[in-house]
Amino acid sequence: MTRFHIVASISGMAAAAAWAFHDFILLGVVVATFFVVMGLGVALPQLRFFGDFICRGSSSRRCVALTFDDGPDPRSTPALLELLRMEKVPAAFFCIGKKVESDPELAARIVREGHLLENHSYAHSNFTNFYSTARLQAELVQTQAVVEKASGVSPKYFRPPVGLSNPGTFRAARNLNLQVIGWTIRSLDTVIASPDKIVARVKRGLQPGAIILLHDGNIPAEKLLATVKSLLDTVRGLGYEIVRLDELLK
Ligand SMILES: [Zn+2]
Repeated sequence: MTRFHIVASISGMAAAAAWAFHDFILLGVVVATFFVVMGLGVALPQLRFFGDFICRGSSSRRCVALTFDDGPDPRSTPALLELLRMEKVPAAFFCIGKKVESDPELAARIVREGHLLENHSYAHSNFTNFYSTARLQAELVQTQAVVEKASGVSPKYFRPPVGLSNPGTFRAARNLNLQVIGWTIRSLDTVIASPDKIVARVKRGLQPGAIILLHDGNIPAEKLLATVKSLLDTVRGLGYEIVRLDELLK
């Protein structure tokens, strides 16, 4: 039973009681509270409201994992891969299916260089969270197929676009044996202009087992490289090891 089921059951009983006693103010409060809690559940992966949203790894070791969303992007991903290779840092790339389809060689390179290539939907629509379970599942299947065709590997993880979820998100992922991945620290690297400020924000949230959310799509290569270089120094300087996401989740 998910937290959503518990909240829905309690709200249903409270609403029924309010209705029975003709207490319409209480009924309004119950309904409003239910929708506020639902909204928080949709927007905040860490609440794990609709299912097993994995937002951190094991905290038994001083390790963190880097994840990059919205690639592969020919304008920035190659430079990032070069930096990660030189620094010997493995990462997880949550890729958009249609971008994999348009640049399969770059997708293959991500895998060849020891990184994870995971599912971040096919089209990355901002309305993905309004899709039916069947439509979302079809997108996930399509993305699995293009990733397999490009790289020869099959993703094990799915990160929903914008991190929004609902009960169908978890049904679709479960049907395909995909684990749903969130994050511990959202860098806001596509919003914050200065790499120093992005790194300072990540630093504030650092903790053993943290999953760090960054982007390698729709971000200038220079900014991405400056951010990642500084982040690696900061994270290592604090005694953290950077491991691949699957290693962090063991
Ligand atoms: Zn995204």
